[in-house]
Amino acid sequence: MATYKDANYLQQSSSEAFDRDYGPGAAARHAGIYRCMGCHREIGIAADHVLPPQGHHAHTPSQGSIRWRLIVYADHKPK
Ligand SMILES: [Zn+2]
Repeated sequence: MATYKDANYLQQSSSEAFDRDYGPGAAARHAGIYRCMGCHREIGIAADHVLPPQGHHAHTPSQGSIRWRLIVYADHKPK
């Protein structure tokens, strides 16, 4: 599970960007932390990079397929 120390750097969002699962190799439209909904592994990825491919890690049959979901969006625009 993603963790943090200082809550001042995170804010809750109801954006639909957090509701969609992406398959292996899909383009990551948002930079941030993605969680595999099958095994709960987390990765960090830059915007417009490609999510890891099917062979990135193995699942048991009960974990199903690799599905990446954005769980933390990293706002990289200068303020
Ligand atoms: Zn997984």
